[in-house]
Order: sequence, then C-alpha cells, then structure tokens
Amino acid sequence: MFANIIIDITHEKLDKIFQYRIPLELENVLSPGMEVVVPFGKGNRLTKGYVIGFSEACDYDPSKIKAIQEISREGIAIEGKLVALAAWMKNHYGGTMIQALKTVLPIRRQEKEKVKKKIRLLLDEREGRKKLEFYLEKNQRARARLLAALLDAGELDYELVNRKLNITLSVVRALEDQGVAVLESERVYRNPVKECGQPQKQIIFTEEQRYAVEQFWEDYQKGRHGTYLIHGVTGSGKTEVYMEMIRRVVGTGRQAIVLIPEIALTFQTVMRFYRTFGDRVSIMNSRLSAGERYDQMMRAKEGKVDVMIGPRSALFTPFPDLGLVVIDEEHENTYKSEQAPRYHARETAIARAKMERSSVVLGSATPSLEAMYRAKEGAYRLLELKMRSGQQELARVHTVDMRAEMKNGNRSILSTKLTELMADRLEKGEQMMLFLNRRGYAGFVSCRECGYVAKCPHCDVSLSSHRNGKLICHYCGYEEEKYSSCPECGSRHIGEFRAGTQQIEDIVKQQFPRARVLRMDMDTTREKDGHEKILAAFANEQADVLVGTQMIVKGHDFPNVTLIGVLAADMSLYTDDYRAGERTFQLLTQAAGRAGRGKKKGEAVIQTYSPEHYAIVTAAAQDYEAFYQEEIRYRELMGYPPLENLLAVLVSCKDEAHLETGCRYLKEYALRVPKEEKVELIGPASPGIGKINDIYRKVLYLKAKRYDTLVKMKNRLEQYIEINDGFNTMRIQFDFNPMQVF
Ligand code: ADP
Ligand code: ZN
Ligand code: ZN
Repeated sequence: MFANIIIDITHEKLDKIFQYRIPLELENVLSPGMEVVVPFGKGNRLTKGYVIGFSEACDYDPSKIKAIQEISREGIAIEGKLVALAAWMKNHYGGTMIQALKTVLPIRRQEKEKVKKKIRLLLDEREGRKKLEFYLEKNQRARARLLAALLDAGELDYELVNRKLNITLSVVRALEDQGVAVLESERVYRNPVKECGQPQKQIIFTEEQRYAVEQFWEDYQKGRHGTYLIHGVTGSGKTEVYMEMIRRVVGTGRQAIVLIPEIALTFQTVMRFYRTFGDRVSIMNSRLSAGERYDQMMRAKEGKVDVMIGPRSALFTPFPDLGLVVIDEEHENTYKSEQAPRYHARETAIARAKMERSSVVLGSATPSLEAMYRAKEGAYRLLELKMRSGQQELARVHTVDMRAEMKNGNRSILSTKLTELMADRLEKGEQMMLFLNRRGYAGFVSCRECGYVAKCPHCDVSLSSHRNGKLICHYCGYEEEKYSSCPECGSRHIGEFRAGTQQIEDIVKQQFPRARVLRMDMDTTREKDGHEKILAAFANEQADVLVGTQMIVKGHDFPNVTLIGVLAADMSLYTDDYRAGERTFQLLTQAAGRAGRGKKKGEAVIQTYSPEHYAIVTAAAQDYEAFYQEEIRYRELMGYPPLENLLAVLVSCKDEAHLETGCRYLKEYALRVPKEEKVELIGPASPGIGKINDIYRKVLYLKAKRYDTLVKMKNRLEQYIEINDGFNTMRIQFDFNPMQVF
C-alpha cells in the first residue's frame, strides 16, 4: 500500500499529489487527514504533509519511492480535520479528492493583500508647528496641508490623505526624507461586519424556548453531541434559541458556525448576531472577494472570531475547536451543492460534527422530509416551538379554484377574490405582495378547464413538454405525443402555463391605475444592491404592491403587508420531480407567513387549478404534520427518499452515439455487479435539457434502500470508468438524492 500525500495546502497546489511508501509500523495506523513527516525534494528535507488517501498501485518506480518518516506528533491540525472531511465527502458523494479538497480547504489565491498605509508624525507639537511655518513661508502648500492634518490627528490613513487632501506620494516621501513623518504599512484583516451601536434587547424565554435550550445544553454538558431539529414557525423565536445555545458553547471556549441561506442573510440578521457577539462574529457571503474570504478563514483559524455566519461554504470554516453548527432554514435547496462533490450541508455538517465531537442544530418552519423523518426515527432530537412570540395570529388563507374562475368567465390572471381584496387594501393604505411561483418550472402540461396534468404512469411525476412535440418523463424516459385537447374533458385550453412578473405588473397597473407597483425579479435586481434597494423602497412604503418571484417570499418582514397573493401555486406543484409537493408546501407556507407580521391581521390568496391537492390543502391550513403524513406515504409508495435512496449518474458527451453506448455499458455493468440488496435501475433518460452547448446529456438513476449500497455502486462504477478508455470522451458525475432532475 502507498499513501497519497499533499505537501502544500497554502497555495493552489492541491493537484500535486505525492506517493510515499508506508513503513511496516504505520500500516493500519494511518488514516486520511493525518499529518505526517516525509522527506521531500532533492535534499530530502523533512517536511509536513497530509495523508489524503491510499492506493495499491504506485505510479512510479517502486524502488525509488520514499517512505513516510513518522506521524507528526503535534496532534491533529485543523487542516488535517478538514482533509479527513474531504475524504469522507469524496466517498459519500463521488468526484475526485482534489475537488473535495478544494471545497473544504481555505485556499489562498495569488491575490494582492490589502495593505493599509499610515502616515505617522515623528515630530512633537512644537517642532511640528515650526516646520509648518517654514513650509508656509516657502509656499510649499501640499507639504503644509499634510503637516497641518498630521498635527491635528497624529496619524493619518494614506488613502484618505491621497483622496481627500489630494496629496501625492512624492509629498509624503519629502516629509519622510526630512524626518517629519513616516509612511508605515500594516497588513489588515478585512472584517466585513461593521460596527453598530444598539445594545441587545433583553428577552425572557418562553417555556418552549427554555426547554429547547436546556435539552440541548444538558446533553452537551454530558458530552452527548447529537443532532437537533427545531421545528417552529417563522417568528417563533428560533434565532433567539440558536443564539443562546451558541453563547453557552462559546462560553466553554469552543466555536460555532451558523449556516443561513444567502438570500436570508440580511443586514438585520447579521446585526442581531453582532449585537450579541460583537466583533467575535464574522460573516461570509458570495460578494466577498477571494482575498476577503481567505482573511475570514484565517481570522477563524487564529482564534480571532468565535462565530462564523454564512451560506453553505461557511461550513468549512477552519475553527480550532468547533462546538456547534447551526443550520437555519435547513429545508432550503441551496444547502445542496450543484458542483462536484455534490454534497449536502446538512449531512456534511453532521459528518464534521462527529469527527470533532460537536453538535448540530437544524431549524425550520417547514422541515425537509429527510430531517423530519430522521427526527421521527429518533436519529435527531425534535424540539418544537409552537407559539409565535408576538402572539400574532397566522394569516387567514383563501384557496381559489381557477377552473371555476374560468367557468365564470374570468380569464384574468387575478381571481375575483384577489382583485376584491387588493382594492380593499389600496383603500386602507395597506401593502400587498403578489408572488409568482416560478420555481423549478419545467414545462408541465395542464388543462385550464379541469386541472388535468399529464403524468408518467410509472413514476408519478409530471411529464415535461419538449420542443420535439413529445411529453417526456425525466426519470425513466417514458414518452408520449403532445395533446391538442384535454384527455380528461376535451377542452382545447391545454398547454404549458406561462406568465411572467412583467406581465403581472402590467395587469395590476391596468386594473389599478393608481396603485404604486414595484417589481422584483432577475431583471430588476441585476445591479449591485438591486435587491436591497427594492426591499428598502417597499419597506418605506413607497409602493403599495410588490410583484416578484420566490425572492420576495423569504425572510423579509414588512409590518404593513396584510395581503399575499400566490398567482400560480401549481407551477411548483407539477415540476417533474418527486420533491414538487414538498417544495410547493414550503413555498406556500412561507408565502402565507408573510402576511400580517405586524399588528394587523393578514390574509393570503392561493390561486390554483388543483385546490384538492394535499400540498395545497395542508399549506392553506398551515398544517405541517398533515402534509408530512401524506407526503411520506407517497414517498414510501414510490420508493423515493428519504425511505429509499436515489443516485443519479449524469453522463455527457459531444458525440450522441458514444453517449448512448456509454450509458448502455454503464447500465449493463451496474446490473451485473454483485449487490447486497436489490438495486433498481431506471433510464437512461434524456434530461430536461438534453443538450447544452452541443454536448449531449443522459441520466441513469439507481435506487436502493440503503445509502451504503449506492456508495458501493458508485465506487464500482468509478473503477469501471477509470479502467475503460471508452469513457474518456465522457464526463460522468454522480449526484446522490438529487435536488432536481437533470
Ligand atoms: P424565528 O427565528 O423563529 O423567525 P426570531 O428568533 O427571529 O424567530 O424571533 C422573532 C422576533 O421575536 C424577534 O424580534 C425576537 O427578538 C422576538 N422574540 C423571540 N423570542 C422572544 C421572547 N421570548 N420574548 C420576546 N421577544 C422574543
Ligand atoms: Zn381538461
Ligand atoms: Zn417515468
């Protein structure tokens, strides 16, 4: 056996892997992540490296391979822990070790460090005044200006001097030469969190909140580090609970990571943490430059912060002693990476927590089926917050049957009920949000008269309309011809549902000429801070109506909003994957939760062609448990996660014929290999987008009860692909329990 070792992780040199012989005494002792001492380079200088894996074969002349000297005795370094996590991810999700390493290790890109230059006065007050007079006499204005400012402040920021006082470097140099001042460089860490004065308000926990914190804390103190699921509606005080848990964990000298979907990472949220933890908290988001990101990571590593808040990637913060990972809105799709390794932050957090003896706290108003299923199984501990802290009532929800609207001659995208309520709100000077549910739109075909939706007879998911005139199942490849009339009622109003936010804005303006309308979608938020600007304008009540996509549903509190209209609830209901019902329930529940956040009671209108669908019925009733029971039954019946596991093998190739052959071989091989339990093979099918940039794609699904079985299948397939040159022209990716169909 040989060990694969990386020597240098501070630069982007992870691609260089060196092989070393494992001496006898270290056999069966080494594991990925361990720090070892190895002879390196021509002089065999003893150098530290990390074990990233093992191989039986060696790529060089075995007699020339050097041996590992010893295991580094200084305990496991932070990097070692992350390397071990990368090894777990590679095995659990597929992809290469290098991809996994690049995901978990803070990598310094060759980027200029931001250096702050300061000008410091070297003379005392009396000498300084004398010199100033001298400059003025000589009419050396720039020098005089700089010295005067220095006499005032003692020390000045070079950039400020340069921009505000219009003083060039040569002037500064002149003062330096004369021993008047000195220009100094100081490397600064960029902390994106800016100060804010407001103190944290004192709250008294409710019984439920106290119980949640105490349950967690009791376990924690006993060294029982587990996973907790906090199920509580928005506004039930989950964030307060997280903060108390973090406070206690940080109090023991350990650190915490808080994952929040980027879209919900608002200024208010960050400030709440900042008020509690001061500058011991740091944030990450996609707007930080690579350099800033790296700085944040280094501050964490050096013990300068205790709490890191950020999206998915913040999970890999190199804290020396991680005690807690909080994942807020754990049901969000953004916790799954869509690049190899296609990891899920929830599972990866739990894996990291196991390795570092820390705990994980998940929170959501609408927990994912996976998380709730695990909680009910007893793998996670369920903590419920049933009361809204402000005692506000939940919004009253009206479900409108759009088929009936059509029968009554209303062909507008706004139902009679919604129009009526909108007029009422405009009258009262209250605000409203119109939400166009476009998430995961994939071209399902439905009848506007009877609500019929074309579905696959084998997979019970919607068929997708393709340009070639066919309706196709994205799981199994089943096809049929497009309909010209509804097979159920014969109506000609059958087709794809299309409507955009722009169109809705126009209709609203037409029907309510005096209403002030704001629109928030991809188009209107393209510019920097476009999001914030629109939301701020709406919060300042500069508009009556906010029209938007799912962007407007998440995390924002507008006390004057008392009406929410969901214009096309069905859009997400009939996307072509098995999570459609879950996604719809989540979106509708969140949308309804937006109405009536202030003192006034709110109402929500859900417009749909399938008012009897359980996802809609239970969302309207805001009844999570009822939804869960229905949904889990469907998953069980069809063998979908979380009851069974699904592995998508996505294959792409420039040559369509090659692709077909490759997929056939993969399928045959998968059928042939010995298995410990039944593995069902589905497809290969053409994905939603069968061709991107002239590259053809196909997807093969493997289904099994146990996740482990699929990991083994993946490993087998990886080996098979590696030894067969025929696959060289293909790109093959694995995706476990995918969030989307391809
Ligand atoms: P969630 O994270 O579940 O949406 P938050 O923690 O943000 O809920 O709480 C919603 C609001 O209620 C916040 O302003 C919070 O400070 C306040 N709050 C939470 N718990 C209490 C409490 N026990 N007493 C008073 N106010 C509370
Ligand atoms: Zn019909
Ligand atoms: Zn099918």
